[in-house]
Amino acid sequence: MHPTTKAIRTQIERTEQMEHSSPMFLTSSFVYEDAEHMRAAFADEIDANIYTRFSNPTVQEFIDKICILEGAESGFATASGMSAIFASFMALMKQGDHLLVCRSIFGSTHTVITKFLPKYGIDYTYVDANAKPEEWEAAIRPNTKMIFLETPTNPALDVIDLELIGQLGKKHNLIVNVDNCFATPIGQRPIDFGADLVVHSATKWIDGQGRVLGGIVVGKPDLIHEIYLFCRSTGPSLSPFNAWVLSKAVDTLDVRMQRHASSALYLAEKLQNHPQLSWVKYPFLPSHPQYKIAQKQMKNGGGLVCFDLKGGLESGRKFLNNLKLLSLTANLGDARTIASHPASTTHAKLTDAERQAVGITPGLIRISVGLEHPEDILQDILQALEEK
Ligand SMILES: *Cc1c(COP(=O)(O)O)cnc(C)c1O
Repeated sequence: MHPTTKAIRTQIERTEQMEHSSPMFLTSSFVYEDAEHMRAAFADEIDANIYTRFSNPTVQEFIDKICILEGAESGFATASGMSAIFASFMALMKQGDHLLVCRSIFGSTHTVITKFLPKYGIDYTYVDANAKPEEWEAAIRPNTKMIFLETPTNPALDVIDLELIGQLGKKHNLIVNVDNCFATPIGQRPIDFGADLVVHSATKWIDGQGRVLGGIVVGKPDLIHEIYLFCRSTGPSLSPFNAWVLSKAVDTLDVRMQRHASSALYLAEKLQNHPQLSWVKYPFLPSHPQYKIAQKQMKNGGGLVCFDLKGGLESGRKFLNNLKLLSLTANLGDARTIASHPASTTHAKLTDAERQAVGITPGLIRISVGLEHPEDILQDILQALEEK
C-alpha cells in the first residue's frame, strides 16, 4: 500500500462503542487495575499510558501517521514546531558540541541557535544555502555533532541537495536533522536521502487551515528515545486536542498538497515574465537555480512561490496594500492564500547585508498558495501589481 493509504487507515484501537472516526482522548492521566499493574507501568515493563506529558493515544495516532508518511521508525509530538526543534537540539547535543547549520532558516530557529545554544556551550557555524559540497565539508569540526537545515529554504526557496548532506553525515558520523515543514512528507522524504531526524511545524501545511499549533520530530529510534526522555521531563508535549485536529488533517494532506503545488506552479508560470517583476522563484520552475536537485528529491514543488518586485521596499508595501483577496498574516500553509513581505516584517530587524546573505531582496514577496481557485489568486496578484 502507498504511505497515504496506510496513514489514512491508521487509527487507535476502536473502543466498544464501535466508532468509525477516532475519538479524542482528552485526559491528563490513566488508571490501573491494581497496584501490580501500576508498578509494571511505572517500571516500563508493560506498554501502558501513565500521563499525557509522556504519552497519549490520540497523540500517538498522529505520531504513527507522520512516521508512515516520512518513512520513519519512531517519533515524538510537541506543542509547536519550535519545541520540536529545540528538543532535538537539547536532547542530542551537550556543552562543547558544534552545530553546522544552513544560514537560511526560520527566524525563531536562528534565535535559538545564536542566542540560547551558546548559553549552554553549544557552538554553531552558518553555511550558505547554495554552498558547494567542499564548503559544507570544510565547515565540519572534530566536535561537530549535528547538521541542521531546511529545504526549500525560508523565504527564498533555495533547494539543498539532501543526498549530498546525507552522505556527508554518514562519512563524518553526524546527526542529519532536516526541517521538512515547507515540502511536507508528500513533497519530499528526507529520510530516503539519509536524514536521521525530520522535524515539522505541524502548524503549517499539516494542519492546513491555520487552527492549531503543533510540532513533531521523527526518525531513528535511539535518537527519538533521547528526545522523548527530554520532553517527558521538561513538558513541551502536544495537547490531545491539537493532536486530534492534526490527525484528521493528515487524512487530507496528500490531496491538499497536490492542489497547493499545482496552483503554485500555475502562478509561477503565469507570473514569470511579468514586467513589474525581476524574477519569480519556484522549485519546479526550470529557471530555478537548483531545478535539477528539486526534480531529484521532490515529488512536487510545494505550495510557496516567491518573486521580486522591481521597485524594492516601497513597491512591496504598496503591493500588500493593493491586495483584495490575499491575507496579510504571519502564517503559511493555510487553505487561504497569504502574501508576505519579509523585508518590512519578519526580517525587518536584519541589516541589508544579513538579508542579502539569506536571499531576501527589498522587493521579495512570498506567497503561500491556498486552496482557492488558482485563477482568482492570480487575478488578485495581477491587479495588485498594476495599481499604483
Ligand atoms: C513556522 C515554522 C517553524 C516553527 O513552528 P511553530 O509551530 O510556529 O513553532 C519552524 N520551521 C519552519 C520552516 C516554519 O515555517
